[in-house]
Amino acid sequence: MHLILLGPPGVGKGTCAVKLVAKYGIPQISTGDILRAARKEGTEMGKKAAEYMDSGRLVPDDVIVGIIEERLKADDCKNGEIFDGFPRTVEQAKALDEMFKKSGKELDAVIKLTAPDDLLIKRLSGRRMCKECNANYNIYFGKPSKEGICDKCGGELYQRDDDNEATIKNRLKVFYEQTSPLDEYYKKQNKIIPIDASNESDGTVAAITAALEDK
Ligand code: AMP
Repeated sequence: MHLILLGPPGVGKGTCAVKLVAKYGIPQISTGDILRAARKEGTEMGKKAAEYMDSGRLVPDDVIVGIIEERLKADDCKNGEIFDGFPRTVEQAKALDEMFKKSGKELDAVIKLTAPDDLLIKRLSGRRMCKECNANYNIYFGKPSKEGICDKCGGELYQRDDDNEATIKNRLKVFYEQTSPLDEYYKKQNKIIPIDASNESDGTVAAITAALEDK
């Protein structure tokens, strides 16, 4: 199955993706995670991406498309994948269409996740992530049992550089300006499945899987 999770920052794409990976046995492809890993390793691409990420702007399309082209060559994508945070522009969506066309694949659905802005801001500003395993916590909604420590692997929790108030506001603005046109793009392809993601992620994932089974 080839699936896109579309929605603003903080809507829960990453959290839902991890749960869908467990259910469908296909990998999550998060361009944000790939870029953060490149920064951590100090690669040229990571260094270039850093200034965009820290101000909440989008990394240029050619860099992102290159990342996806490489990632889709891996063996674990042979039965499908869940895109989380990609595509984010119409140009990226067109590039993905081309990649799929060339390899004879077809996109199954675009899950459009929505939640009100005030909730998104609270989720993002309260988010804490594990340095080791990328697990997500939230100081308002889902604290770890021991402050600052990951329940799953014991790793140290941190706040992402771009989860500060000014950058969060810019990321939402960038989403509405540059990413929301994808709604129209995929509506024309009849791929959009709208899902309310205001509540707890287990309920959102159940709604996604029910909608996919109904398709
Ligand atoms: P995320 O982890 O998905 O919230 O992404 C964090 C940051 O990485 C974004 O604010 C962008 O700067 C960059 N980024 C991630 N995915 C993309 C993409 N598909 N296109 C452009 N920039 C991206």
